[in-house]
Amino acid sequence: MKKKTMWAAVLTEFGKPLDIREIPIPEPGHGELLIKLESCGVCHSDLDMKTGSTAPNPPIFPITLGHEGIGRVVKRGSGCNFIEEGTRVGLPWMHDTCGHCRECLTGHESFCSEHRGHGFNINGGFAEYAIVKEAYTVVIPDQLDSIVAAPLLCAGVTAYGAIRKADLYPGKICAIFGCGGLGQYGIQLAKAAGAMVVAVDSSEKKLEISRSLGADHTFLSADDPASAIRDLGGADACINFAPTNKTWQAMVDSINARGWIVSVAQAPDPVELNLEWLLYTGAKITGTSVGTRQEMRDLLHLAATMDMKIGIEAISIGKVNDALDRLAQGKVDGRIVIDLALG
Ligand SMILES: [Zn+2]
Ligand SMILES: [Zn+2]
Repeated sequence: MKKKTMWAAVLTEFGKPLDIREIPIPEPGHGELLIKLESCGVCHSDLDMKTGSTAPNPPIFPITLGHEGIGRVVKRGSGCNFIEEGTRVGLPWMHDTCGHCRECLTGHESFCSEHRGHGFNINGGFAEYAIVKEAYTVVIPDQLDSIVAAPLLCAGVTAYGAIRKADLYPGKICAIFGCGGLGQYGIQLAKAAGAMVVAVDSSEKKLEISRSLGADHTFLSADDPASAIRDLGGADACINFAPTNKTWQAMVDSINARGWIVSVAQAPDPVELNLEWLLYTGAKITGTSVGTRQEMRDLLHLAATMDMKIGIEAISIGKVNDALDRLAQGKVDGRIVIDLALG
C-alpha cells in the first residue's frame, strides 16, 4: 500500500471536540487485520468517552473513537488464516478479551473484566483505516448495507442480548422503555421473538416511530404507563433502553410475578428496591452490555433475512462533532452513521 497516512477523529482531552487529523496508517500485527472502513456508527458511548463520564483509568490519549465500524480487509498480519483480504468485516465494541477468565470460558465474554474496547482502550473506527483482531471480528453478510448495518455492531447486538435475556416467546408481553435507536431495535427483535410489544417513551414522535416498527401498544411515560400495562395483563419482561432511572418505578409497577427486568441503557443514579417486593413477586433483575461474538453472528444473520428498519442519518466524518453535540442534546431519533464515502 503506497498510502502512509489517513484521517481520523481523535480524542486528545476529555470535553474537547474530536480533532480530525492526519495520522499514520497502522500496521497489522500477529492475528490482526487492517481494514479500510466504509462506515462507522456514532454511539452514545462515544459521547460518554468524549466527556470522560465513562473512560478507562488511566485514560489513553490520543485515541480514535468509534466502535460500530464496517470495512474491508486490506492487509493481514502474520498468523491470520481464515478471513481473506477483501472480506467485509465488523469493528465492534470488543477488540478482544482475556480468553481465560471464568466469563470467557463459560461463553459470557462480554462480561470479561479484562476486555478491551474499540475507541476506549484501542483505536476505533472514526478513521479511514483501523485494526481488528481476526478472532474477534465478524464477517458481514452480503445482503447487509454497510451504512444501515453499522449500528448493529453495538446498538443492535446490545438490544439483541437484552431480548435473549428477557426469555420472550409467543404470548409473552414485553414492555420497552425508551424508544431511541436501541429501543427501536428492541421493538423489532421482541416482535420477531413473537411477543406482544408495549412501547413507552416521553416523546410522541418516538411512539409514532415505534408503532411503525410494529409496537402493539404505545404509552407516554407521563400518562401512567404501568396501569395501562397492567390492564393488558402485565409485562412478562420490562427492558430499559432509556438513559435514566425514572423508568424504574413504572417497571416495578408493571412487571408480572417472575418476570424479567433488564437494564440496558447507562443510568448511573441509584434506584429504590424493596426486598419484600422482590420476595413476593420473584421478579428477576439483570443487565446486559453488547454481546458475545456468537450473538453478533446470530444477529447479523437474522438482520440479513428480516427487514430491520431504523432511522439512519448518514454524515461525513467532518460532521462527527456536530453529531456528538446533537446526541448530548437528545436530538437524535434513530442512529447517526459516518459514511466514509462522503469524505
Ligand atoms: Zn456503542
Ligand atoms: Zn476474560
